Amino acid sequence: MTRPGATFAHTGLAAVDDIEYGARFLGSLSLHEGSDPARLRQWATAAAEFGAALAPAPAPAPPRIVERGGGLERGLLARYTSRPPTVELYTDSIDAAERLVAAHGWRAWFPAGSVRAAALAHEAVHERLHHGPERTALKQALGHTALRLGRLRVLAHVAGADELAAHAYARAVCGLGRSPLLLSVALAASAAPPKDTRLPHRQERSRSWASSS
Ligand SMILES: [Zn+2]
Repeated sequence: MTRPGATFAHTGLAAVDDIEYGARFLGSLSLHEGSDPARLRQWATAAAEFGAALAPAPAPAPPRIVERGGGLERGLLARYTSRPPTVELYTDSIDAAERLVAAHGWRAWFPAGSVRAAALAHEAVHERLHHGPERTALKQALGHTALRLGRLRVLAHVAGADELAAHAYARAVCGLGRSPLLLSVALAASAAPPKDTRLPHRQERSRSWASSS
């Protein structure tokens, strides 16, 4: 892949790599407050590797897709809801993300139209991880032990890991040069005062590519 204008695209928000953004994302969740940064990076790496290696698979019954506006004011780009299985695509946020790609010089990483494709791929992972064996496989990949009883080891859910797996899957299946997490960060930064390039705080951050049941 051609590198987008190296003098510009690798500075600012893009100067931080995907794993670091993943670790910051995990660290922004209240459950991981005070966690060892090395451990967060390790989880971010494991979740990204898991997502990137997930085999592309169409859902047995593709969810309903609803396109709607009002995403920017709600801080939403796309959302999966399980009852009934539905992916909501917020077209105003998707358009804004496409404009940010152009403004930042990231088009080689995110070809035109790829934000929508990435959103659909991302939400498909939430659907797959909502139930079924891949949910367990992700826990195994992360290897976070909740409890040990003698030789029995109970694996814990790592909050936020499914989000990073979903981004990594979207990046892989859509052939993107960077994780869509970068777009999430850029969208949040464009909506917030520019003094801080860390991930925004809980509400904004978790709503950009949100899932709920
Ligand atoms: Zn998500």
